[in-house]
Amino acid sequence: MSKWPDWLPLKAALTDSSVYGAPQLSNVVMLNTNENPFPLPAQVVDQISDAVRQAAVDLNRYPDRDAIALRTALAKYISKDVNGIGIENIWAANGSNEILQQLFLAYASGVCLGFTPSYSVHPLIAKITGASWVAAALDNNFNLNIDLLTSLINKENPSLIFITTPNNPTGGVVKYELLEKIANLVVGRKTLLVIDEAYAEFSTEKSAVNLIQKYPQVVVVRTMSKAFAFAGARLGYLVADKTVVDGLKVVRLPYHLSSLTQAAALVALENAKLMQAEIDQIIKSRAVVKAGLENLGLKVVDSGANFLFFTGFKGSSEQLWQQLLDQQLLVRDVGYAGYLRVSIGTESENQKFLQSIKLILG
Ligand SMILES: *Cc1c(COP(=O)(O)O)cnc(C)c1O
Repeated sequence: MSKWPDWLPLKAALTDSSVYGAPQLSNVVMLNTNENPFPLPAQVVDQISDAVRQAAVDLNRYPDRDAIALRTALAKYISKDVNGIGIENIWAANGSNEILQQLFLAYASGVCLGFTPSYSVHPLIAKITGASWVAAALDNNFNLNIDLLTSLINKENPSLIFITTPNNPTGGVVKYELLEKIANLVVGRKTLLVIDEAYAEFSTEKSAVNLIQKYPQVVVVRTMSKAFAFAGARLGYLVADKTVVDGLKVVRLPYHLSSLTQAAALVALENAKLMQAEIDQIIKSRAVVKAGLENLGLKVVDSGANFLFFTGFKGSSEQLWQQLLDQQLLVRDVGYAGYLRVSIGTESENQKFLQSIKLILG
């Protein structure tokens, strides 16, 4: 029986859906949504306050619907990875989840292809927007199998292919050379290859933004939520061929990005260099937590992100998740049997996590 009343015209495709979202609890150490554990530096908070105050004077007016100043700053930020990217190659929205939704709205038809385990929001948005989703399994080491992908592309002729690297929830990184091989697979097809690089700043691998000029079907999705410690502000962006950006302008809602968001994000980008210290600290801590878990006899997947995916404990993921919560530690059970995902926190949070799990596993 459906939990929805008969009079509610909820779309048939959605009636068995549940509401997405990890628990948000207070008084616990939150290591479950891969946020940057460090608050913004005080000087950045001050600058944002000033910029937002200034923007507030003009709140009677709609925002710059093409976010010219912000996209110019994003293009400049991306030029540390690749030359020749301009504002016409950048699009911005309220979080990269909105970017993903706009990609589905503009470009999904027939089948969209992804991998599992990977970011669960990709198939979720597919469902919400009425696209059909086919997922290929990663191999036993959570690597992508290009032969499997090749045969699926030939069979399904997908409009969109999603690759997340570093992958969430595993942390695994797809090598740039392999991404280029995959880019070659879509040449001559009516297909976009979407690379979700939400965690790019935590990885040393060459970014897929370097593929865009040679392969206009490659689309890179980024976010300020993780590396920039900006999850609450909601700012995601895309780097792509100009024509991909032009297509997104057709489906975006008018004035989708508020002038307050644009002003705040601009300030955060101006302080990008300051954030690097936090990123370096998180990368260092990642090695410490990985070694700590391995010392307890656990198996940890190599990660290029700000979290770790681990296994090798007795009992179920649900059990260990609950035992950790009993110690005021919230980690993520992504529904992959025998594994849990933990975000890298501050040094004291990481120590608390390692001590608690040691106690639990005895
Ligand atoms: C966190 C995350 C995002 C996005 O988040 P926004 O906050 O909406 O920018 C996108 N993709 C992956 C793989 C993520 O883990």
